[in-house]
Amino acid sequence: MQISAVDFFYAAMPVVTLDADGSQDALLVRVRSADGAEGWGECEASPLVSIAAFVTPRSHGVCQPVAASVIGERLESPADIARLSENVRRNSMDLLQAAHTWSGVEMALWDLLGTQLGAPVWQLLGYKQNIAKDPYASLLFGGTPEETFERGRAAVEAGYGAVKFGWGGFGAGSLDADQAQLRAAREGVSEAKLMVDAGQIWGEDVDAAAARIPLLEEVNALWLEEPFSPYAYLAHAELARRSPQVALAGGEASHNPEMAKNLIRFGGIRFVQIDTGRVGGIGASKEIADFAAAEGVTYVNHSFTSHLALAASLHSFAGQATSTLCEFPAGLSELAKAVTATALVPDEQWQVSAPTAPGIGIAVNLDAVAPYLREVELRVDGAVLNAAAMSVGK
Ligand SMILES: [Mg+2]
Repeated sequence: MQISAVDFFYAAMPVVTLDADGSQDALLVRVRSADGAEGWGECEASPLVSIAAFVTPRSHGVCQPVAASVIGERLESPADIARLSENVRRNSMDLLQAAHTWSGVEMALWDLLGTQLGAPVWQLLGYKQNIAKDPYASLLFGGTPEETFERGRAAVEAGYGAVKFGWGGFGAGSLDADQAQLRAAREGVSEAKLMVDAGQIWGEDVDAAAARIPLLEEVNALWLEEPFSPYAYLAHAELARRSPQVALAGGEASHNPEMAKNLIRFGGIRFVQIDTGRVGGIGASKEIADFAAAEGVTYVNHSFTSHLALAASLHSFAGQATSTLCEFPAGLSELAKAVTATALVPDEQWQVSAPTAPGIGIAVNLDAVAPYLREVELRVDGAVLNAAAMSVGK
């Protein structure tokens, strides 16, 4: 089949706050073939600039819009998606947003291809089995230790055996304040696995991060996530050396496989967390999952948007036997909940798996998203660049 149209749907909550909640807006992507079949994906990035990266006029031969590598191309097999991925890398090498835009398009291509071939994406990736994962509740620290305690307790009462707290000022104030938050988190989650996300708060300051290691050891944290900027490989390596018990985790900021591989090669991380909507899509995620497994590093998805993106990320590492944890966004916005017609829910053993229906296997509910859609018009010299996206919501 031939890829004939790519449409973007920019949706946002009525009020977007400064909270580190990535589900407050969304950029959905619909890819259509010439014969009317369609697939859906989601970019985890700023929607407006991501749309612009698809339609922007070319600047030169290797600074072309993403559309130049996609529209009119053939799609018959996974090899075609890999070919287009390489074309985007080459043709849009000087367009930094291209990877984010391509991630959602790539996801939608897998959905379209799987639907046409009657196979779930995990099978198309070559996995022989779809291994259920243990979801961890991904939560923000409360404004007070009491609030953190309550959030942790609620997650465990809901059934989670692992809980992660992050952001909310952790690492920015005193050690005492962090200790109070960590102790409240541990008390709240009781015996459950506990992870902590520092959200790059310490930049490259290894001492500031290392000062928290004894506090994390005290509450038996499984991992400390994103202590530093994702490019600070030496800082990661030094902290890893100083933290034999609490593992380092990171990788969600990667917008290509090499960034994630370098954190493994040079940063000493023991958990690599990949956002399929940011890193280049499902194929790029699978590449990292294979690399991590070979290096003895545990692959975990990074998911903080809709269950469409969550399902896509689950396909990427469905068959990785050593990767048993799955980030499960437990506090999504009303918008993110509206994106899909159904939700992934943990089974009786409180595990989640990639869908087994063809494609990504979870349907988008555009009617439910309609109230959140933003009208976008990108013009150059009076000509509307995103003419297809203009049809959104009308
Ligand atoms: Mg994180």
